[in-house]
Amino acid sequence: MQWTSPSGQTVALREGDITRVAADAIVNAANSALAGGGGVDGAIHRAGGPEIMRELDRIRSEIGQCPAGGAVATGAGNLPAKYVFHAVGPVYRDGRHGEPELLASCYRTCLELAESRGVETISFPAISTGVYGYPLDRAAAIALREVMRYFAPPDRRVRTAIFVLFGRRAYDAFAAALKELAPGRV
Ligand code: ADP
Repeated sequence: MQWTSPSGQTVALREGDITRVAADAIVNAANSALAGGGGVDGAIHRAGGPEIMRELDRIRSEIGQCPAGGAVATGAGNLPAKYVFHAVGPVYRDGRHGEPELLASCYRTCLELAESRGVETISFPAISTGVYGYPLDRAAAIALREVMRYFAPPDRRVRTAIFVLFGRRAYDAFAAALKELAPGRV
């Protein structure tokens, strides 16, 4: 399923493994320590190779932790991309501790990193919806709204955002949210 903005930028939904989808930049769902973990982070480091963690070690020695809502950029090692943006999603408690704003900030920060690097195609996983426990339907609405909002001005260098959803349940949640945000246009 996909949605195209009036000026031709595209938001596409795909079911699959993000390490297998070519893009200029692949977004990772990282943790504040940038220390590696399971889920999509584990898959990205396995497929990308050790150079990505070496770069993160350097970044960590410069900035310490990356707060929730932020993201840092590295190269992509063996992945089919130029960059990996390691975004730190919020841990979900009850939705009343700033989680929606922090989750939106992850997507916006990655889009800004992309814009400043001349990235045309960026792929996202469903940040925070695994171990961090964000309910899929709410996370989907926030993620899609933020990217669609980013595409409102016609002069963005980023042209395509691909959400690579791991499993049918995640895909269906994003498809339902996209239909609701853009009724009759997907
Ligand atoms: P978080 O800690 O931000 O919740 P997780 O990695 O636990 O991060 O989960 C985030 C989302 O990534 C979940 O929806 C999970 O199903 C999904 N995921 C796990 N592996 C992959 C993969 N290889 N490609 C895309 N998405 C993945």
